[in-house]
Amino acid sequence: MKNLVIIGGGFAGFWSAMSAVRQARFLRKDSSLKITMISLDEYLSIRPRFYENKFKDMRVPLKKYLDPLGVVLDVAKVIRIDHKKKNIFTLGSNSQEEVLSFDGLILAAGSQLSRPSIPGFEHAFNVDTFGDAVLLANHLKELSDFRFPSAASRTFVVVGASFTGLEVITGLPERLRSFDLPDIQFNFILTDRSFSIAPEYSSEAREIISWQLEKEGIQFFAGEEVDSISPDHILFKSGKCIETRTIIWCGGLKANPLTSMFPIDRDCQGRLKVDQFLRIDGQKTIFAAGDVAQACVDDEGHTSVMSCQHAIPQGKFAGNNAVNALFDCNLIPYSQPRYVTCLDLGSEQALLTSGWGRFPKMTGISAKKLKTEIMSKWIIPEKDVEETVKISVPVILHNEG
Ligand SMILES: Cc1cc2nc3c(=O)[nH]c(=O)nc-3n(C[C@H](O)[C@H](O)[C@H](O)COP(=O)(O)OP(=O)(O)OC[C@H]3O[C@@H](n4cnc5c(N)ncnc54)[C@H](O)[C@@H]3O)c2cc1C
Repeated sequence: MKNLVIIGGGFAGFWSAMSAVRQARFLRKDSSLKITMISLDEYLSIRPRFYENKFKDMRVPLKKYLDPLGVVLDVAKVIRIDHKKKNIFTLGSNSQEEVLSFDGLILAAGSQLSRPSIPGFEHAFNVDTFGDAVLLANHLKELSDFRFPSAASRTFVVVGASFTGLEVITGLPERLRSFDLPDIQFNFILTDRSFSIAPEYSSEAREIISWQLEKEGIQFFAGEEVDSISPDHILFKSGKCIETRTIIWCGGLKANPLTSMFPIDRDCQGRLKVDQFLRIDGQKTIFAAGDVAQACVDDEGHTSVMSCQHAIPQGKFAGNNAVNALFDCNLIPYSQPRYVTCLDLGSEQALLTSGWGRFPKMTGISAKKLKTEIMSKWIIPEKDVEETVKISVPVILHNEG
């Protein structure tokens, strides 16, 4: 019996498990393979929806899929990996350290919010985990219960003017409108140490984003580095101070620290460089997928981005290849030349871009409908378990031209 362990029950880990089950069946090795998933909780968290206020369907129960497929779910925290001896050390709910040995491993432990050592950082909200999203929602509800009594409680500051920060700030006006307090005027401020909004986007796309910010009355404070945060204000190094009860930190993600267990190069986000089969460099049966992996996606030198768009297909390739590696079959090279982004811009507005230059392809209501469909259908597993296994085949997504 071979042991395949998957660390992480996010998009990459979930699809690794589905694909490993499918490929083991295909090779008629399902009775010779035990698959174990270790994850911090029992859910596939739909992280891209954590800026919304609809908590229903933001988490998919993993056991619904894993139990009928015979995949063991171990709810525990991996604290160490000994890749030479092929052992994983975990801490379970009883705080007892346990050791699990493996023949094959897929590291899919995702990413976490980058937390700079800024005085008072703990007073900032964020949308990194389900718990963080609930904290923010409860805070907004509490302010609304008191009818946003002070200027500071009516002022909302989002730090970070890239993808997540933009989705958070442009979603806030509609979120606050849902409290049905039409007489109250709110202030929305987006800040960044960079001088540009969404510098990773094309200038055409940035124009659309800026237009939407203006339409929603959102101010942009550029080139502002945060000095300190307190429960009722944010201070910038320039000396500027904003009185606010709500600071939402969207300053970027970094790869899970478990990546440091491997003595190889990591990129500036802490991701492990993987080969064309998603193997961690130098390892025959150890793979990485999703936000922990930096993978080449095409022949032009582009590498994967921390996104579901890359985590889901990488999971499918990693699961397939891990099983093939364990049973001495050929591995399939991963590539994913197609690259799109769909940025939510709040009320009836979104922006679809195509290609690595992130040029606008669609805006307005049709883009918003597409965004809603992506969030509520495309990235959510099929309801039927066997159907989910069926669509876990690795497929290369090409550009549409
Ligand atoms: C607010 C927000 C908005 C986003 N919007 C988009 C978007 O619009 N489009 C898009 O494509 N992407 C978006 N993303 C990014 C996307 O959510 C991630 O790229 C994606 O979740 C990565 O999947 P993953 O499986 O690699 O990691 P994750 O989803 O982070 O899953 C990691 C898993 O590992 C487990 N884990 C972590 N540490 C341990 C440990 N020590 N031991 C055991 N288990 C562990 C966790 O419990 C979790 O199950 C967004 C992210 C955020 C936070």
